[in-house]
Amino acid sequence: MSTPVTHPEIISYSPRTGLEIARYRDSSAADVEQAVARARVGAMSWQSIGFSGRKQILRAWAALITSRIDEIAALISEETGKPVSDAYLEISLALSHLSWAAKKANRYLRTSHRAPGILFANMSAQVQHVPFGVVGVIGPWNYPIFTPMGSIAYALAAGNSVVFKPSEFTPGVGHWLGETFNEVAPNANVFFVVTGGPQTGVALTQAAIDKLAFTGSTATAKKVAATCANRMIPVVLECGGTDPAIIDKDADLSKAVESVLWGAMSNGGQTCIGIERVYVHQDIADAFVAEITKQASTLQAGVDYGPSTMPAQLKVIDSHIKDAATRGATFVVGSADSVQAPYVEPTIMIDIPEDSLAVAEETFGPTLTINRVATMTEAIQRANASKYGLGASVWAKKNGKAIAAQLQCGMVSINSVIAFAGVSTLPFGGAKDSGYGRIHGPEGLREFTYPRSVVRPIFDLPLSFTTFKRKPSTDRLLKRVITFLHR
Ligand code: NAD
Repeated sequence: MSTPVTHPEIISYSPRTGLEIARYRDSSAADVEQAVARARVGAMSWQSIGFSGRKQILRAWAALITSRIDEIAALISEETGKPVSDAYLEISLALSHLSWAAKKANRYLRTSHRAPGILFANMSAQVQHVPFGVVGVIGPWNYPIFTPMGSIAYALAAGNSVVFKPSEFTPGVGHWLGETFNEVAPNANVFFVVTGGPQTGVALTQAAIDKLAFTGSTATAKKVAATCANRMIPVVLECGGTDPAIIDKDADLSKAVESVLWGAMSNGGQTCIGIERVYVHQDIADAFVAEITKQASTLQAGVDYGPSTMPAQLKVIDSHIKDAATRGATFVVGSADSVQAPYVEPTIMIDIPEDSLAVAEETFGPTLTINRVATMTEAIQRANASKYGLGASVWAKKNGKAIAAQLQCGMVSINSVIAFAGVSTLPFGGAKDSGYGRIHGPEGLREFTYPRSVVRPIFDLPLSFTTFKRKPSTDRLLKRVITFLHR
């Protein structure tokens, strides 16, 4: 006899086969509130064990994840459909961030001293980095361990407790993270996972959290930020993009092609910092297109990358490709019929209008648009014309840095792609519709604290400015000092 269902469930399906993988609790608003209440209790003891206590637990968690890497890689592959080797890469990056945040939180968040200035020369002035308390984390499905870990690890290392709502497409990975954390810190009440659909996410934004870290689409981010604004809950928003690659005429062509192709097609193009647009100098455009066409012809959907994890995305990808076809783009790889559910064939479109969907909107599939430009100024203008500003890639021998410096985006790699995401010391995040706030690096640690300024007199001055007993002689002295300093 089967056990009667006592609570609603969500089902995780294999994107490859469409078959059910497992069922997880569809957490209600009450479940979420309970997790947040318990996390609030846990936050106090988590803060009291200090940086070294937290480092020990977080590093033990990293060691446990490492020892069970095959298990989690298989689960990521099963839920997202990506090749297992891509799952290993994702886990490796997540582990680097977890270890770095655990090790460096003390260095970047410990109390620092500031110069008090001449008028308050008798004061000790300090900045403390205070954890918010309970941080809500809402994650997407495309990198189900790497992406949320960028918030979870940094928020925990900074002294917060965390309630994490994974994507409804990858609840198993989220659940696994909760289970393994609980193994290294049983009953710590520090890290909770609430599985469920968008309504569970809504409940988390309405619960008594102190900060929210959201990663997902720009459309959802706007709703999340609006809800959090009602209670003045600060948010960090990591959203979508249409990242450009700019190729100058002196670029190393074969390296540029190899990297841009991977940046566009790996993970089936389901990468927020995946390359969607290429602007290549007209002098080398034909050679670039010929080489990328050649290299892309060896790629195979279902081998080099998996299916579309979220079935509904196939419609978006199809609409972008069909729009490009009707707008006169030339398909050098793939065709207007590249979408063959659940897979999408590699698709490269050239000479495509800048206002077509594939250029202007996030496609999130294994597609790439290529347009030729007369100058790098034109390439920069077109790259910056997007409403998004997440990442970018520049390929040039001479002017790489100068081009990169003019791009409106949060992250640029010169003569490389996507590398910034793996460098733990660098902040990760975007500009414009790609979001605000930062995860990773010292900025990512500080994102999960607020600064508290503390002053304290360490010796008495013969004059004091902060009293009604101020004398005319004090005012005269103040005037003299101000005049000396600012005249
Ligand atoms: P999504 O916006 O559909 O969902 C993200 C999460 O929000 C899910 O957990 C979902 O259940 C939850 N959610 C949905 N509606 C909600 C609401 N009203 N209130 C609260 N939570 C809600 O995004 P997705 O399809 O899961 O992810 C793909 C998107 O994520 C792409 O746009 C991609 O570019 C972006 N992304 C960005 C980054 C980054 O770091 N910038 C990283 C990975 C993915």
